[in-house]
Amino acid sequence: MIRKSKQKEAIFKVLKGATSHPTAEWVYEQVRQEIPNISLGTVYRGLKLLKRNGEILELGFAGTQSRFDGKAENHYHFRCLKCNHIFDVEGPVDKKINERLAQKIGFTVFEHRLEFHGLCKDCQP
Ligand SMILES: [Zn+2]
Ligand SMILES: [Zn+2]
Repeated sequence: MIRKSKQKEAIFKVLKGATSHPTAEWVYEQVRQEIPNISLGTVYRGLKLLKRNGEILELGFAGTQSRFDGKAENHYHFRCLKCNHIFDVEGPVDKKINERLAQKIGFTVFEHRLEFHGLCKDCQP
């Protein structure tokens, strides 16, 4: 049990220190430097658990691997279509969208995700 939480803690620490919205494999490579015998499966399970606890975000993009985010509160992202980097977009999250949509369609809306696509500064011609 103690070992489990130590692994989870290490996964969380790596993700908190990363701004690149890494893949599970990347997290695994980093955590392995601290806990050499950890398996990729354990890292996956740890990430799923952290996500379920609301401590991290999982960002799913069509056709690519999930990327993970140590910043758990809702925020917007910009994805560069050329280099595939994912940037955090500063600025307030529009919580009213949820209410407006709920009123319009009669569903209960908990959250929304917003993702901008384009070219980052380095990739612009
Ligand atoms: Zn780019
Ligand atoms: Zn983010």
